[in-house]
Amino acid sequence: MSTTGPGIDVSPANDVDIGRMLDVEAVRADFPILSRKINDRPLVYLDNAATTQKPRQVIAALTNFYEQTNANVHRGVHTLSIEATDAYELARTKVAKFINAPRPETVIWTRNTSESLNLVAATWANAHVGEGDNIVITAMEHHSNIVPWQQLAARKNAELRYLAVGKDGLLDMANIESIIDSRTKIVSVTHVSNVLGTVNPVAELANRAHEVGAVILIDAAQSVPHMPVDVQAIDADFLCFSAHKMLGPTGIGVLYGKYDLLDEMPPYMYGGDMILEVTYEDATWNDLPYKFEAGTPNIADAIATGAAVDYLSELGMENVWEHEQQLTAYGMDQISSLNHITIFGPEDPALKGGVISFVHDKIHPHDLGTALDQQGIAIRTGHHCAMPLVRSYGVVAAARASFYVYNTKTEIDALVDGIRETERYFVR
Ligand code: PLP
Repeated sequence: MSTTGPGIDVSPANDVDIGRMLDVEAVRADFPILSRKINDRPLVYLDNAATTQKPRQVIAALTNFYEQTNANVHRGVHTLSIEATDAYELARTKVAKFINAPRPETVIWTRNTSESLNLVAATWANAHVGEGDNIVITAMEHHSNIVPWQQLAARKNAELRYLAVGKDGLLDMANIESIIDSRTKIVSVTHVSNVLGTVNPVAELANRAHEVGAVILIDAAQSVPHMPVDVQAIDADFLCFSAHKMLGPTGIGVLYGKYDLLDEMPPYMYGGDMILEVTYEDATWNDLPYKFEAGTPNIADAIATGAAVDYLSELGMENVWEHEQQLTAYGMDQISSLNHITIFGPEDPALKGGVISFVHDKIHPHDLGTALDQQGIAIRTGHHCAMPLVRSYGVVAAARASFYVYNTKTEIDALVDGIRETERYFVR
């Protein structure tokens, strides 16, 4: 696919060495939106940590469902309902295999990562955290992995503890033995920071949590889409992610949990499908996973998530990761070669995912984002839903470029040229 346009050539054919892991040109051809022009320039989409673009295969899964299969699941005896149920459950099985969950019932469909985190806070943690206990998170969490714990800690008279982030952008692991202690009930950490890109040592944290009898919840919103993740290898008790950050639709996410933990947890929402039996006086709960899926689920989007998982599996998650590592290394190199730029997070690209957050000391991030948009380049600017972390760097906003399977080094060149072009107006 040719993406040459005025001023910028973002043809992946220029990306000779990164073509080895992924056929980026073929990948790009699967994404209709990538042939769009924005302000007369070819779209350079570098806002993948916020949400990703969708390949034809995912869009087709949605269209096919509504054109050929649409019916409610689990309750019908007619053909469409049976087909819809089979497709919905097949998608669950695909997700389970993708993260190496031991059984499909341990994969719960939710709306997104935020809902999965809230579900665990409102059920497991609500039942197990008591006065004087503590909850451990990190200083690099997304708001959706801070606020539910602040609320729970306040309600229970429990303590919310933070693992610190060092100047190098890495988690400070020196004090984990004193921070994660015998009163810790749950450790809830991001696997990959959406601001710094830092890849956290979740297996080590899981190990420490288990030593003290706590459980670990891993926010994998920025890891499952980008690298191979094996819930059994890291011994995750709970792990969650959003389909829209991994080529799938919005409005659907996943909570994985160990079977015994999910089984003993109270329901999160009440209603149809999550019950076994209802009398005028009382009710009993359905088996997993349905106990946590009250009401008509997001059937079409679950099926399309299965298509996204197929797409990524076909590419191979090792290849996806390698591709992003190359882009990150190149991006760090190129962006740091500019004047006036400070990059947040680990300097070594091998320690981070495909996220580069930075500030320019002469251009406000919002001005930079707007000027880049004029050149067809989409980046994110602001606090990235991690206000405490961003503020800890002495700023209220940062610019962020984040990469995915369809990005190329030539697009990073376009970003760097775009920053230079913007400097002509702001730097005197
Ligand atoms: N956690 C992390 C690390 C994220 O990056 C995000 C989204 O940016 C979320 C949680 C929340 O995801 P969602 O908005 O899909 O619930």
